[in-house]
Amino acid sequence: MRIDILSLFPEMFTGPFSESILSRARQAGLIDVHITNPRDFSADKHHKVDDIPFGGGSGMVLKPEPFFDALNAVKSVGAADKCRVILLSPKGQRFTQDKAKQLAEYEQLIFICGHYEGFDARIEAELPDEMISIGDYVLTGGELPAMVIVDAVSRMIPGVLHADDSAETDSFYNGILEYPQYTRPRDYLGREVPKVLFSGNHALIERWRKKEALKDTLRYRPDLLTEYKPETKAEKKIYDEARLELAE
Ligand code: SAM
Repeated sequence: MRIDILSLFPEMFTGPFSESILSRARQAGLIDVHITNPRDFSADKHHKVDDIPFGGGSGMVLKPEPFFDALNAVKSVGAADKCRVILLSPKGQRFTQDKAKQLAEYEQLIFICGHYEGFDARIEAELPDEMISIGDYVLTGGELPAMVIVDAVSRMIPGVLHADDSAETDSFYNGILEYPQYTRPRDYLGREVPKVLFSGNHALIERWRKKEALKDTLRYRPDLLTEYKPETKAEKKIYDEARLELAE
């Protein structure tokens, strides 16, 4: 996947994209990240990209020309029909795991990061296919949201994680939270790892994990279960047990 990011602060991306899983994914050619500075597309002799808001008010507003021109430049190198342009904004739809899965299907993603007071409204109206927010709060720029989304989307690309299925048991992937995980030591200060995990019985372990995942979801994020409908009788039984055990 080709990932283009339009940002006035390209160096912010150096650390996050040069470490750990994202760095490996880049080296393996699974993601190909390009950062473009709209300032390079400013016709102004001082490379100005912002100006005062018409009608008055505080702060500086990002001008249309550098963003329209920078976007045209990065669009021309990608796969037009499999490309999605995302503008980062607190006004956008809230980012979710489902959105990460959807975005992972594209061949090129283009992120437009704002700064200062935000964008001239013509940028928002005409450039993106969609606007995405990473939460109901305001950050200084779209760089951190772009990093968050690139990270979450990259994990959905086959080969980026070591084991192909490790994303599938993560929280949210199937609409609920992840089951509790344990590692060595078996006994830590009297807190023992549940015995079922040493039983060697995979079906039993699977059932226990499903029930504990439901219990954690009921405990920490019951809102995720308002639409939850067990698909089989066996799943309904596990769900009923989870609710009962939590109520005890
Ligand atoms: N004045 C704008 C408003 O109230 O909607 C906020 C501008 S914010 C200071 C500057 C830039 O940061 C935005 O243009 C956007 O790109 C980015 N940004 C801030 N908060 C964000 C969020 N929650 N999700 C996505 N992008 C965000």
